[in-house]
Amino acid sequence: MIKAKKSLGQNFLIDKNILEKITDITDIKDKIILEIGPGTGNLTSYILKKNPKKIFVIEKDDNLALNLKNKFNDKLIIINDDVLKIDENILFKDKVIVFGNLPYNISTEILSKWIINLKESFWFESLVLMFQKEVADRIIAKFNTSNYGRLSIICNWKLNIKKVCDIKPGAFYPKPKVDSSLLFFHPKKNFIKLNNPKNLEKVTRIFFNQRRKMLKKPYNQLFNGDQKVCNKLKINLSLRPQNLNLDTYCKLAYEYENLRS
Ligand code: SAM
Repeated sequence: MIKAKKSLGQNFLIDKNILEKITDITDIKDKIILEIGPGTGNLTSYILKKNPKKIFVIEKDDNLALNLKNKFNDKLIIINDDVLKIDENILFKDKVIVFGNLPYNISTEILSKWIINLKESFWFESLVLMFQKEVADRIIAKFNTSNYGRLSIICNWKLNIKKVCDIKPGAFYPKPKVDSSLLFFHPKKNFIKLNNPKNLEKVTRIFFNQRRKMLKKPYNQLFNGDQKVCNKLKINLSLRPQNLNLDTYCKLAYEYENLRS
């Protein structure tokens, strides 16, 4: 019996209906799959049943990686490493479909890394990912709501996101203390292009630093008190950060970038 490591966010999915549901979200027959954190291989077995062309898995835990090798033999390409250290843009020449019941302690870090590092051509076709419900609610939040913030803006910048379902702790072993949500992401065709996506990170960080305060102070900090950009984008600086929509934040990042180039 494998003992779950809390430090690696190990909560293994055991509910057969949920495992089935996850692999039914999108057609994976003859597709190249990447699974993040396959753990004991529960989801991996369901993915394999759908006859993908190839499956890559990235698992940090050495014991679990060895266990997967014994269990699945040459059916998987096992990368025994930290997903945060991998450059998927280099690894994948053909587009992949990504599955992951993500380790919750680093789930937002993984997703933000992927989005910020995306090149002109996306390395994935879609993402099927499980998050802690509270995090998923922040990812899909719309402006003018309390959950809306940096994470919502960065994730929705280049991706369309749909919530598939919420999942109760009983679907996992060991049971997590919180509910989970399954999200489906696929790339947008149109979005505001930035030379350096870190500028969107910076702009949103400065605006949401004090989310209850008016926009005036962070705006002046970024644009040195020059009102041109806020006039052009018709921004009322007495509003709060959560009142600006995604498009406005992307335009602010674009203007900020132009100012510095
Ligand atoms: N997919 C399995 C399932 O649903 O039963 C396990 C999911 S469990 C929530 C998260 C998995 O990610 C664990 O197997 C854990 O060892 C692995 N993991 C944690 N941190 C990781 C990292 N930085 N890179 C790769 N895998 C990681």
